Amino acid sequence: MNKIPPFDVSQQYQQIGDRLNQAALDILASGQYIGGQPVSQFEAEFAKYIGSSHGVACNSGTDALYLAMRALNIGEGDEVITSPFTFFSSAETISMAGAKPVFVDIEAHSFNMNVDLIESAITPRTKAIMPVHLFGRSVDMTKLMAIAKKHNLYVIEDCAQATGAKFAKQMVGNIGDVGCFSFYPTKNLGGCGDGGMMTTNDPQIAEKLKILREHGSPKRYYHEYIGMNSRLDSLQAALLQVKLPYLDKWNDQRRAISDRYTDLLKQANIPDLVTPHHCPESVWNQYTVCIGAGKRDYVQAQLREQNIITMIYYPLPLHLQSVYANLDHQKGDFPVTEDICDRVLSLPMFPELTTEQQDRVVSTLKDILK
Ligand SMILES: *Cc1c(COP(=O)(O)O)cnc(C)c1O
Repeated sequence: MNKIPPFDVSQQYQQIGDRLNQAALDILASGQYIGGQPVSQFEAEFAKYIGSSHGVACNSGTDALYLAMRALNIGEGDEVITSPFTFFSSAETISMAGAKPVFVDIEAHSFNMNVDLIESAITPRTKAIMPVHLFGRSVDMTKLMAIAKKHNLYVIEDCAQATGAKFAKQMVGNIGDVGCFSFYPTKNLGGCGDGGMMTTNDPQIAEKLKILREHGSPKRYYHEYIGMNSRLDSLQAALLQVKLPYLDKWNDQRRAISDRYTDLLKQANIPDLVTPHHCPESVWNQYTVCIGAGKRDYVQAQLREQNIITMIYYPLPLHLQSVYANLDHQKGDFPVTEDICDRVLSLPMFPELTTEQQDRVVSTLKDILK
């Protein structure tokens, strides 16, 4: 049986390789390798796509989150509320800035932070909320923004897995104070290396983000802050500029695949398998099912035997990571998150996944769990 991978980023190269080759060769010949027009053009086009007045490119999604925190003066003594069920970067960057990550539990049906729990986590030290739009699906931003406004908190959106997703018709990344995006190759808009972007509608925040990403230096060799070197390479900017016009099509393909997975899985009526909640505004970076308690690892191993490779995002919640022992959390603090970590399984998902491949994933799952 042919292998069905969890993602296959080389397929985009099959489709538009000629245009990517040309863009890369143009950069190589130009001698403009850092900054310049390729980066400013991509920043403008990406900001326009999101609907924000400013786009500031940087070296990764992780840097975007960290720089956003710094631009908003979040640091020592401050607290930022986020989800314990996310990639490590979300909390890591809060800690890198010197602040403390404060977790609230998630909702089982959306895998996202339970917005109704935010207010009870707010203290006099709370400076910001960091919603993470996990697996391509937005947090309830209407409720979240109302809470942020009431308590005068910043909102930094972690959009790393949700480029192009919306909440109530609004693009994620254009709802809070700063939107942070990743162009890691497996994200919805993936580069050919690392890359990131911050979006904002506040010109002062945009200016500070630009200064911080370049050694805290508004003018070369004059430094106002301790910043960093976090620029997007001209090469990546040029390649991402080629890919951006295809993003909506690729996201539509992901939506169609997710609808079809759900239809097939429901028809198959597989015991102990829960399909993800329907969400037409999600961009389905992952299609994640939940398997009955205690069976998930067995199911994953059996699928692997059949050459179907699945992923577990994420096996250990952030509040139980050894590096956060100092936060003094116990098992049981966030029961929904802990239960979900034991049950999630992300099925193969990429825009080019074929119907035959999907059929095989579903029938194999049915055989394993029948
Ligand atoms: C990928 C990811 C990041 C980090 O992005 P990088 O570009 O890999 O640094 C942050 N948050 C979430 C939720 C992610 O999935």
